[in-house]
This record gives sequence, structure tokens and C-alpha cells, in this order.
Amino acid sequence: MDNMEKNWLISCRDACLGYENKSVIEHLDIEIQEGQYICVIGENGSGKSTLIKSLLGLLKPVSGIVQINRSAGKGAVGYLPQQTQIQRNFPVSVMEVVLSGFLNDMHFRPFYKKKEKQEARRHLEHLGIAELAGKCYGELSGGQQQRVLLARALCAADKILVLDEPVTGLDPMAANTLYESMELLHQEGMAVVMVTHDLANALKYADKILHISDDGYFFGTVAEYKESEYAQIFS
Ligand code: ADP
Repeated sequence: MDNMEKNWLISCRDACLGYENKSVIEHLDIEIQEGQYICVIGENGSGKSTLIKSLLGLLKPVSGIVQINRSAGKGAVGYLPQQTQIQRNFPVSVMEVVLSGFLNDMHFRPFYKKKEKQEARRHLEHLGIAELAGKCYGELSGGQQQRVLLARALCAADKILVLDEPVTGLDPMAANTLYESMELLHQEGMAVVMVTHDLANALKYADKILHISDDGYFFGTVAEYKESEYAQIFS
């Protein structure tokens, strides 16, 4: 499909992102469109988390505009956070974890609708992990946990997923399985924004690369990126 025909999902226009009196990313002009797979790379401290918080609407831009297209799908961004030790050992069932993806629109309603349970189950099946539904989340392998969190993110949103270093800490086989799951969702039209340190797989799967550095940023196709000065840093 021609890019021109696609809807935008998140748009940053001359956006300076950061904190009170501290701009971390300056003059960012990017548009994330339906179905795009974007990998965000950059050294530690370059501003990747700041960008993610801004794209999720958790952090207001210091100046400029960050707009999330609420008319697209459920209007929410599905988010797979960096795993912490606490989350890993969380004593709760897989189904509860997946269902909690609906909490955005629950407004303190302390139960889930039948429709939501069916949808949660459908996402688990789609990711090939239906058999894990009744298990305790804390007993799963790291790769299984990440796929459960992917199913959870799918409950929150159906147009765009934002993933923060999803394969960090996974063994190569588990990482590949997760990449394949994300590629499946991408093939079905899901937009993916993924922070990663895994440049080889970023170049393999992404449509576009957003490379953030202290001096500015690069945003373009993988082919353009490979030709750019930014890619030379890694060669
Ligand atoms: P990355 O995710 O690429 O490692 P971050 O977005 O976490 O980078 O950090 C970018 C810069 O913003 C760093 O200099 C960091 O110290 C600073 N920073 C991060 N969080 C805050 C905060 N809450 N308040 C002020 N500065 C912050």
C-alpha cells in the first residue's frame, strides 16, 4: 500500500521532549503510520525512554506537539514495558495478567466482561500460548512471559504496540519466537514501535529506524539508514 494512503497514528511536530527545564530530544518531526514497524535505537541515556513516555502520552512535550490519533481503533497504545524483577515474580495467573490490559477503560470496575475474557483468550491462542492461560505468571520462562505481556498489550490496543527492549535478557531462541510473533502481528497490519539494542534484528524487521543521539536524530527507511552517518557508528 502506498504510504500516502495510510492513516497516521502518532505525530510529533517540532517536538522537544524531556523534563522540566531539560530537553532531551529536540525538534523531533516524525509520523508513525498505520502498519509501520519502527525500531528505536540509541546509546543509553540518549532519550529512548523519554520518547516512549512521550508517545504513550505520559510525558507532555516541553514544546511542540505530540498527537495520538484517538480515532484509530480503540485509540489506545498497547504497551509492553521493560521487565522488572517484581513483574517477573508476580503471583498472579496468566489470564489475570492478560485481562489487566483492559484496565484502561475499566474505570474501577472490579470484574471483566465475558467479551473481554473471550478476547484475551483469542490473543493467547493467536500467539500460540493458549495452554498457559491457567498457569501462574511467575512460573513461566522469560520468553513465555514476554508473549503473555504481548497478549496483554493487544487487549489494550489494536493498531499500535510500543515495546521497550522486549528481547533483553531472553535466550536467542526465545528472542526469535518473540520476533516471529511481532512479525505475525505486523503482517496483519499492526504498527510496532520497538526500543532495542539488537541492531541486526532491527535492520531485518523494521520499515524505519529512529536513531537518537546526543547531536540529533535520524528517522528514515532501513535502506536510508544504512547509507547514513548514523549507521557508521556501528560499523
Ligand atoms: P535511554 O532510555 O535512552 O537510556 P532516558 O530517556 O532514560 O534514556 O534518559 C535521557 C536523559 O534524560 C538522561 O540524561 C536522563 O538522565 C534524563 N532523565 C531521565 N528521566 C528523567 C527525569 N524523570 N527527570 C529529569 N531527567 C531525566
